[in-house]
Amino acid sequence: MDRKNTLWIVAVWLAAAVALKANALEITFLDVGEGEAIFLKSAGQTALIDSGNPLSGAVVTDFLKARGVNSLDKVIITHPHLDHMGGVFQILPRFTVKQRYDNGQNADPKNHLYRWYRQAYRNVNYQALKPGDRLTLGEAEILVLNSTQPDRSSWNKNSLVLMVSHRESRALLMADADASVEQKLLDQGALLSANLLKLGHHGHSDATTETFLQGVSPDFAVISINEDNARGYPSKKILNRLEEHSIKTLTTYEHGHLFFKSNGQCFYRSGLL
Ligand SMILES: [Zn+2]
Repeated sequence: MDRKNTLWIVAVWLAAAVALKANALEITFLDVGEGEAIFLKSAGQTALIDSGNPLSGAVVTDFLKARGVNSLDKVIITHPHLDHMGGVFQILPRFTVKQRYDNGQNADPKNHLYRWYRQAYRNVNYQALKPGDRLTLGEAEILVLNSTQPDRSSWNKNSLVLMVSHRESRALLMADADASVEQKLLDQGALLSANLLKLGHHGHSDATTETFLQGVSPDFAVISINEDNARGYPSKKILNRLEEHSIKTLTTYEHGHLFFKSNGQCFYRSGLL
């Protein structure tokens, strides 16, 4: 091969590498104390999955503003418990949100908080997601695996479970889903393998069974929770289970915001994005 051809091949390879990097998927698990908020970015498009609690919603708005984000392509609320949806009251007045989603959970209209949530959040550009729905975010895809079941009164069991993928990289986000949802997904034969798992229900022992963990087989486990949590999350039993599987476990209270990036094959831990 002559020198000109070699240079040309190197230039094409570099251009492809730069394009892949620019279009890669970034996932940030925000340190929002007792609650959850996950920021996604791919090819210039942005999404927020959950919004922290009513106080830590300010952490989310500060994080987004510091990154120059003024609008969000998608906001997805996995279920309307306060530690997941509470931040929307701070986010909606400050950011343009192009599309809003949640699990369609019904709530008592006499409860002021949920009435305000419905009025503020579900009034425009809103859609309730159901299993099998697929959303595109830049080069990434968000697949819905679980949502509200008509016969279920438990809001945690109704959580949106989402598989976020970028090429071969897969991140499974369990929201507050428990062992019964995990078993349902296993029984359905859902493709659950993922190299990044956001544990269900903040590491509570009612989620993350041995069988489920074997089905997902992650390299990284993320737990979004505050320090000295009043309910005792995460459970020691679950932390031990993760250690037995040699899964690298990261909590937001120990590490702050957790940054991951996809290289098209898997997610890896990254510095500040
Ligand atoms: Zn929660």
